[in-house]
Amino acid sequence: MTETTYPNDGLRQLLEGYRHFFKGNPPRQGFCALHAEQIAHTQNPHSMFISCFDSRVCPEAIFATNDGHICVHRNMLNQVDTNDASMMASLRFAVDSLQVQNIVVLGHSNCNAVAKLKELDKLPAQIAAWLGSAGAQYRGDSYEQAIKNNVLDQLDRLRKIDFIQKAEKLNLEGMIFHIHSGRLERFDKAQKRWIFVETEE
Ligand SMILES: [Zn+2]
Repeated sequence: MTETTYPNDGLRQLLEGYRHFFKGNPPRQGFCALHAEQIAHTQNPHSMFISCFDSRVCPEAIFATNDGHICVHRNMLNQVDTNDASMMASLRFAVDSLQVQNIVVLGHSNCNAVAKLKELDKLPAQIAAWLGSAGAQYRGDSYEQAIKNNVLDQLDRLRKIDFIQKAEKLNLEGMIFHIHSGRLERFDKAQKRWIFVETEE
């Protein structure tokens, strides 16, 4: 992806941050410590993430962001449940007040929450209630396909939300982080297929 093809500057920053992370660079220095005055009274994040609860998938680390760059909402299954008041409040604030450029649904390889969709009846009630709360499906011929399709299903739910439809400049992204390799796949909306993000400029 060349710089001119980024839909907005926020996505450029995210993918540049990802390359920083992939190359094994240390986390960037805390924005607060260096530029506290700039963010002490306001925030201007360029993106919101809806990421899985999994402890191995941390958007701030994977995209080498500094404080104030991204908002993160995490839950099992990186799920968009329009009946979840916490999720909807975060989304509404991010879109209307913070006017983020991107909402990224971030799934990952070996997502146990996706695997468990096949056996909701065997799970503790609290976990089954959440995973089944919005009708998520294990959809696809393979585990990897089901993980990817889950991300696409969550994006479809986002597109049906009225205040997201009204946000004309808002870009919706689906990504998969591969834990075993550190690689990142992004759903290319124009080509309608998943493409690995380049690890070099
Ligand atoms: Zn997961």
